Amino acid sequence: MAAVLIFAAPWPATLIETAFSRGWYRLVQSILTTISNLTPWTWFDVLVLVAVVLCVRRLVVLIRERRQRGWWGIGGEAVRRTLRGSGYVALAFLLCWGLNYRRTSLISVLSATPPVTASVDELRQLAIDAAAVAARTRTAAQKQLLSYDDIARRLPEPFNRALAHVGRPRLIVPGRPKYTVFTPFFTRAGVTGMVDPFALESMVHPDLLPFERPFVLAHEWAHLAGQADEAEASAVGWSACMRGDDPLVYSAAMYLLVETSAALPTRVWREVLVTLDPGVREDLRALANRWKLIQPSVRDASFKVYDGYLRANAVEDGVRSYSRALQLILLPTLRGQLIDLRSGPVDPTHRP
Ligand SMILES: [Zn+2]
Repeated sequence: MAAVLIFAAPWPATLIETAFSRGWYRLVQSILTTISNLTPWTWFDVLVLVAVVLCVRRLVVLIRERRQRGWWGIGGEAVRRTLRGSGYVALAFLLCWGLNYRRTSLISVLSATPPVTASVDELRQLAIDAAAVAARTRTAAQKQLLSYDDIARRLPEPFNRALAHVGRPRLIVPGRPKYTVFTPFFTRAGVTGMVDPFALESMVHPDLLPFERPFVLAHEWAHLAGQADEAEASAVGWSACMRGDDPLVYSAAMYLLVETSAALPTRVWREVLVTLDPGVREDLRALANRWKLIQPSVRDASFKVYDGYLRANAVEDGVRSYSRALQLILLPTLRGQLIDLRSGPVDPTHRP
């Protein structure tokens, strides 16, 4: 009942922002992530296992009771228990993380006017700038292929500067990068990472290419810092990597190239593609090869489920919200970072 009330009530975004995202959630995050960081294994796997065991055990007990209670009796009991169990899970989800979906949106804070869809010219220029930054940082990035643990050591400082830049509070406890038993599913569905909304831990795919890893971890940390929205998580993660050293900047530039390639008409993207640095093109080919492991049926089914989940959490554009990140990056507040790094000598603070 409490879950239904919290879920359905039209809470004002400013109230959620102040009381939950900047208040209660930050306390919960610092406690839960500190605890879940203690173990190399993911609590999410254990929670799913426990839930499955409890469901199966209850099902066995109910089937044994069918002689005394009849099929209708145990059927009613199963429905009651399922509703009650789902209510507890939904309540835990909302109070641990889920209410962040209803906070004040970053785009409404950062832009005075409602954003319009990015034009082809703006996107082309974004791709050209990203390509320039990628070409300038690739050699240095290639020399230091970072593990997730290396990235987790280098990322906190630029990450918190990125949050401060958009007026969001810092991430108190960064999440230890972890792998999950669901990795084979991640591979087939094309999922690169996920935040565990209960134990507040950062799960990443172990087999990503080195240049993908910094951005993916930064995106998951942005979720952990309370940016539930996919576009906001990508924009904050991108901005954080752009403030880091060369491997992090290269990762951000490659993310932007991939996103703009998907948003631009094929003809325009082909024009950009032929101008790219040969090394950058080689990395894009390696990425396309990795994507061959994705099974379209698994990806489409999981995206459909995720789309329903996002819409239920008041994200009106569902999975299309990922591509909204480009609108945020095009805002002068964030775009300035790209222009700064596009030409001229790389800032010495960007070196490790
Ligand atoms: Zn995400």
